[in-house]
Amino acid sequence: MEVPQSPLPHTANELRGALRAAGCRYTAQRAAVWRFLESTKEHPTAEQVYLAVRSQIPQISLATVYKALEALVAARLATKLTNGDGSARYDCRGDDHYHLRDMETGQLFDLPAEFDPQLLEKLQPNLIEELAEKGFHVTGYRLEVVGRFQPADAPARRGGKSRRGES
Ligand SMILES: [Zn+2]
Repeated sequence: MEVPQSPLPHTANELRGALRAAGCRYTAQRAAVWRFLESTKEHPTAEQVYLAVRSQIPQISLATVYKALEALVAARLATKLTNGDGSARYDCRGDDHYHLRDMETGQLFDLPAEFDPQLLEKLQPNLIEELAEKGFHVTGYRLEVVGRFQPADAPARRGGKSRRGES
């Protein structure tokens, strides 16, 4: 089943409306945070957002950036992607998609693969119904492919020449 995604706001008025609908105030700082998130594919941390927005609004504080990000998440304009170590990155892509995480650097990228809304059913038929019987209401799922990018200066492995037991 296709779940319609709410269109992302592109004007200040649309952003104002979306924030207000979530009970959040529209501020110039929040608009600047939103514009930066919308402009990047980097899935930045709050600190990275802060450094970027500070070039436009020098007096902005990290705490204000955190609050702006939380407001955007509350308004469902951004997603907070937490990692096991407590760090978080922010994404404002509105459609469902998967991620690729470099475990070495923590960087997060969009995975170039089509989102499969039926994946949970493929893992286990009736999984959603069984969870519902246990009182758990499934609202979606997240998938992260983890690994690491090989450093640019490391020699690339070619097929056929690697020996067994090599690490
Ligand atoms: Zn993403």
